[in-house]
Amino acid sequence: MVQQDQDRVLEGTERVEGRTALRDNVAAAIALADAVRSTLGPKGLDKLLVGSDGSALVTNDGVTVLETAKVEHPTAKMLISTSRAQDDEVRDGTTSTVVLTAELLVNALELVDRGVHPTVISSGYRMCEPVIEQALKEIAKPTDQQASLSSVRTCLAGKGDVGLQSTLAELAHSAAQETGTGEVDHVRVLTERSGSIKDSELIPGIVLVKARVHREMELKPNGGRILILDGGLENRKPEIEASLKITNTGAIEAFHARERAGLQARIDSLTAANIDCLVARDGIEEEAHAMLAAAGILAYRRVERPEIEHLCRATGARPVFDFEDIQDEDVGQFKAIREEKWHGVEHTIFEGSSSQGVTVVIRGSTDLRLEEAQRAFDDALGVACQLIREPHLLPGGGATHIALARRLRRHAETIPGREQMAIEGFAAALESIPRILATNAGMDPLDELLRATAAQADADSDWQGLDVNTGNTTDMSEASITEPLSVTRHAIAGATEAAISVLRIDDVLWAKQDAQEPDWRDDED
Ligand code: ADP
Ligand code: MG
Repeated sequence: MVQQDQDRVLEGTERVEGRTALRDNVAAAIALADAVRSTLGPKGLDKLLVGSDGSALVTNDGVTVLETAKVEHPTAKMLISTSRAQDDEVRDGTTSTVVLTAELLVNALELVDRGVHPTVISSGYRMCEPVIEQALKEIAKPTDQQASLSSVRTCLAGKGDVGLQSTLAELAHSAAQETGTGEVDHVRVLTERSGSIKDSELIPGIVLVKARVHREMELKPNGGRILILDGGLENRKPEIEASLKITNTGAIEAFHARERAGLQARIDSLTAANIDCLVARDGIEEEAHAMLAAAGILAYRRVERPEIEHLCRATGARPVFDFEDIQDEDVGQFKAIREEKWHGVEHTIFEGSSSQGVTVVIRGSTDLRLEEAQRAFDDALGVACQLIREPHLLPGGGATHIALARRLRRHAETIPGREQMAIEGFAAALESIPRILATNAGMDPLDELLRATAAQADADSDWQGLDVNTGNTTDMSEASITEPLSVTRHAIAGATEAAISVLRIDDVLWAKQDAQEPDWRDDED
């Protein structure tokens, strides 16, 4: 681009350069971190969020606070998407990610003020990554059933009451164990506005809020073969409307007879393939209901796609598009299909042939309570699934962060360049987690940090951390305060990436005409 063009492009924009830009970005990150900081940990405060429509929501969940916040600043938006990525990938650790990013930036700005170039800081922060990766492996311990359950409990600390925490932790843990895949999507969650949280249960099967299409169809308590149809069992729409024109008497009957024969032919092919149950994504013609019942086939219609996917996983079926040429490998197996009435509503429970189809039914008396429980359950399930994929635990209560800081400080001494200062800055940022946990519990952040750091050195153990429930510095495995290795690793890596990309932006172009909408970045929402 020649200079002239460049000038024209930049017309109408204001150039915010160098330190001003960084200062501005750091300020945005701090503002965001301030909004969630006080929710960190079991003693974190709940936030009352009020939507623009006046709706209210009480939450202790960092990511909910962020998603509700109306944020315009590009850096703040980037931080939100980092924490959303944490939420998507591992479900937990979202508050820590934001807080850590902000601290990394604050410490970077301090170094910039002391004359260190942002590029040097970035490279110092990068140098921390392999050290952290190695250290996390050293600190982590393999988990077992009991330890995993405790870890799921840890992630629910501070969310709702103790009863809710233990019910949901156990459900999440059992659901993850049952599927064994470590995939959160393999667990179907159903919320029911009835009963109370403690009535929530794990059902080994897929529950549909649906009844069979015809009363006279027999349920299949002893198992059978299931066909899943990605379509419907409906009369074929005439190709051209005009073909329906009646030319002589009896034509209507003939037309209906042909349609009926068409339906019957398709049902016959189900019979030929020994199908006991048909599940259709689209409709099933009224007329076919009795015909299916007569053929001894149980049928369900208008089943949503996500439910279809669950059913396929649970039964090993592969969705077919029509009835011609049904292959044996398309047909799934089920152990039982039964119906139950819950608070007057019909539910059908499909017990699949594999354990990969479980439903967790969360019950609660009010919508607000159900929402809170579902959010908490999502975190718990995320943690339980992480532990199946990577069965290693790290100490919580700030112990991991202190242990990493200690190692980074030692490593910094070996680096002769200015990067040394950045590594120390990284270490200090990690220590913000135990400091905030202490502050939120009404304890002195500095005293607690020093006490836990000394305890680690004394006991020569990385597992000494702060239990805010008792106020003691103690071994985190004894106190059952643990986190999955993958959650903490992901949070630190995400925060590092976010901080480095903010440091890389040395000037930001804001369109003058609308300062709210930066034109240099395509945001995802
Ligand atoms: P995040 O969104 O980052 O998961 P949380 O509000 O869930 O934030 O808080 C998680 C932090 O709380 C973790 O660092 C965890 O180790 C810590 N934590 C949980 N229970 C305790 C406890 N009893 N004492 C101290 N820290 C705890
Ligand atoms: Mg958490």
